[in-house]
Amino acid sequence: MATAKPRIPCKPVMVARSDGATTFTVRNGQAPEPNEPTREQKINTPSADGSVDYYRPVQPDGDKDLDWRRKLGQWLVLAFDSKNEHKDTQFILSRFPENYTLWEHVRVDATGARRTDGYLYGHPDGRSSRFRSPAEFFEHLAWLATPLPKGRCICKICAGKGGETQDDGTGVAVKETKPAHQNQAQTQTQTQMKPTNTMPSAARGVSTTSTRAPTGPSLEQRLDSEPNGKYLYRPGELVWYNKTKDTWGLAVISMRQIKDDSPRYLVQPLSHPFSHPPAHIKDQENDLRPWLAWSVPTLGYSKLQGCTYDQVNWEEVIVNYPADPVVDGSILAAKVIDSSYSLFEQDENALANQGERCYKGIYLGAEKIWVGEPVRLRSLGDDILVLVIKKIIERMTSPTTSNVTFVGDVWKFVKVHTPIKDLDLPARMIHDLNWRNRVEGAAQKGIWNEWRIMEPNARRTLGDVKGRWYETQALLRVLRGPATFENELARGITGDAGLWMNGRGDFNETGDLRQQDRESTFGRAVPAGFRVSRGLDDSAGDRFPDYLDQNTGIYH
Ligand SMILES: [Zn+2]
Repeated sequence: MATAKPRIPCKPVMVARSDGATTFTVRNGQAPEPNEPTREQKINTPSADGSVDYYRPVQPDGDKDLDWRRKLGQWLVLAFDSKNEHKDTQFILSRFPENYTLWEHVRVDATGARRTDGYLYGHPDGRSSRFRSPAEFFEHLAWLATPLPKGRCICKICAGKGGETQDDGTGVAVKETKPAHQNQAQTQTQTQMKPTNTMPSAARGVSTTSTRAPTGPSLEQRLDSEPNGKYLYRPGELVWYNKTKDTWGLAVISMRQIKDDSPRYLVQPLSHPFSHPPAHIKDQENDLRPWLAWSVPTLGYSKLQGCTYDQVNWEEVIVNYPADPVVDGSILAAKVIDSSYSLFEQDENALANQGERCYKGIYLGAEKIWVGEPVRLRSLGDDILVLVIKKIIERMTSPTTSNVTFVGDVWKFVKVHTPIKDLDLPARMIHDLNWRNRVEGAAQKGIWNEWRIMEPNARRTLGDVKGRWYETQALLRVLRGPATFENELARGITGDAGLWMNGRGDFNETGDLRQQDRESTFGRAVPAGFRVSRGLDDSAGDRFPDYLDQNTGIYH
């Protein structure tokens, strides 16, 4: 029996139009079948080893039902709320569109481990065209909320037919139809829409799911997405490194390793093209800082101010250089890196329009960013906004230039009196949220930190992104120093690491530079043959050196 749980007050919204179908035809001439799991799938008899595997309807007003409807209701209102009038209200879809039903796949293995996954049935294409998550159904729901005809839906199922999406500007059209949505969302009359295309998908010979199976995250991507991760920095990132007690230099990370449960980094100092300091092993994260933690210093040789690294005739100026040319070389190299981007690991299986490519990650400025993780967004005022990236799409505009689009959900950091459970956020963000609420005594004070979704499936450009999002617990300790940090924690103040960081390009005059890869981004600022490790995904099997021979300067 489900126990009574405190209900979060939510404003109900609904979408009157529906294309939901209770039956569908598998093959022409055959009797229609119910648009739900098959009879076999619904058998809940345990196997000989005690495991069970079956589908059942989701309990109305149960946790799963509420979770789906709350997310959909909230996203729906926010998607049409261009003036941000409803940002502080929680909405819920009062019910799914007519003829859509939520089922759950219950699996309990022989050891008793249990998982249940929700699926929404009702798409007119039939059983195999079920929606697997609120996010997947959201685009279809947003289309239903507009007067747009069939064929203009951009959801994974409608637009994914034949492995192509229809880029006809429907994403924009949805936003511009606010009045229509308001009418439909407020009216309680049913305008059941008959599906116009009744040809079953099997007859068209189109598989709507098999060709789109994602390859899944790479090993490094998974490692970097772990809460309480071991590494603050990533291979290929530009960082400050501690040279001597009070002096810091600029370097790039070539590889990393865990030794004795602590991270170690091999860092290559940046320089002018004619001399390169040896690499260093850094085994204290406190000896490193993200590039964005501090502002760009001025050059020792002021005449070079305003030049780019490659514009400097190094061979000529180095002869009578009035300052330390290695330092100036590193500053000019860092500026180039800050304005550069390069994409890596093309995702062949992600849905893309013609002329577009999807990637699993991007080197953006100093940092390495993965699909699936949050990035800090520029915002007006003091709002803390992040975009949780679902897709990174590149469209070439010339052989050497491109437009990059980040697609994902925009979330805002807020204080609330009633937390919402099961936020659809990356584990790292949930972990950070729990830590903040614990330190700040949220349960005692009745004020919780939370992320509130502002815009699902938003599209942002390179210029909107300030940089990686970091856990405050991990980075703020480094940025503020352990003593200050611990002192504030003791007073119940957690702060936010992002407030102590610059944004990419804040101090850079040049536009975005597309680079072939990370190595070419560093160019002559690193020794010839320099390589950025791909870590766990590296087939070359690079080996982290054990120690530096002080006499020879050679690593072993
Ligand atoms: Zn659709």
